[in-house]
Amino acid sequence: MKAFQFVEWQRPGQLREVPVPEPGPGEVLIKVGGAGACHSDLHLLEAPAGSSSVTLPFTLGHENAGWVEQMGSGATGFAPGDPVIVYGPWGCGLCMNCRQGMENYCQTAGKPSPGGLGGTNGGMAEYLLVPATRYLIPLGRLDPREAAPLTDAGLTSYHAVKRSLHLLGPGSTAVVIGAGGLGQMAIQVLKALSGATTVVALDTSPDKLTIAKQMGADEALASGDDGITRIKDITGGQGAEVVLDFVGIDPTLATAARVSRVLGHITIVGLGNAALPVNFHSPATECSVASPFWGSIPELIDVIALAQRGKIKMLVEHFTLDQAAHAYDLLHHGGIQGRAVITPHG
Ligand code: NAD
Ligand code: ZN
Ligand code: ZN
Repeated sequence: MKAFQFVEWQRPGQLREVPVPEPGPGEVLIKVGGAGACHSDLHLLEAPAGSSSVTLPFTLGHENAGWVEQMGSGATGFAPGDPVIVYGPWGCGLCMNCRQGMENYCQTAGKPSPGGLGGTNGGMAEYLLVPATRYLIPLGRLDPREAAPLTDAGLTSYHAVKRSLHLLGPGSTAVVIGAGGLGQMAIQVLKALSGATTVVALDTSPDKLTIAKQMGADEALASGDDGITRIKDITGGQGAEVVLDFVGIDPTLATAARVSRVLGHITIVGLGNAALPVNFHSPATECSVASPFWGSIPELIDVIALAQRGKIKMLVEHFTLDQAAHAYDLLHHGGIQGRAVITPHG
């Protein structure tokens, strides 16, 4: 089968011919409907050689949905043809965090090992091998080609918002910095979970600001000093209860520090790799800072329920496997409006 693989550091991925995997005991083979292209893949592909311990080559695509193709021996609960979405961060299943569904925070050394990100093959191929049925969530009437981004862009944003939900009562303000794939999901999740919160989106791209408004943002502002002033105005000089940074570079972290309030939350989701200085003077007193990774299995079930009720929907652009390198090139240059999704079977 054809697979789009990470072959060489600081080089674009490559389309290669690989064997179709055979599901072993307890495993499931998925016919891939959609595999989303996440900015994290670009961070990895563009990183200096050996920056992480992953072994190359492996198939990219950690945001996957499709149909059950074949159940390995002893695997139960699903049948060939079932539409499913795949939970991505594969843990040990046995440590305390895994047993609570938080395989994203597996405590076993070397785990989680997400398919498509950590050296294990992902979903930018005709078929994907999933190690256990607990990673499959039924999609019902959702189309895997549209739904795939829910398992990362959707889940990561949902988890980031959930952590601060108690701060988002009536009259509160949440700021979303970076209205790309994840940020657009965060805007919708904020509106779905806390309709009384004023949601402000910041981005450097005018197109993304237009989309942010369509996704439900109350205000969409150019990232920079004027945006900061406007947020101060909206919040009566107090700053926002919650600031979600989906970029993570020096200017966005500095913005996050300036627009957050006393007792607020700054949540750094973007892997821009800059550092936020934290001391008594900044950010505001008792503002907490966290950098979450992905989300839990129960949270993915919540995300699918939100999508099934029409509360959240990704703006998706489809590409064939042959076009995968082109899709990443567009993402690198800011040319993807929502999420690029590779559809190996059309
Ligand atoms: P994306 O490319 O779709 O979106 C990034 C957005 O940020 C774009 O709209 C871009 O215009 C905007 N932007 C760039 N510079 C900006 C600035 N100075 N101010 C405001 N906006 C700016 O990327 P994505 O796939 O949504 O991913 C976003 C980030 O989240 C990436 O760094 C990715 O690696 C990271 N990520 C983290 C996790 C996690 O678990 N922590 C999971 C998935 C993705
Ligand atoms: Zn990702
Ligand atoms: Zn574990």
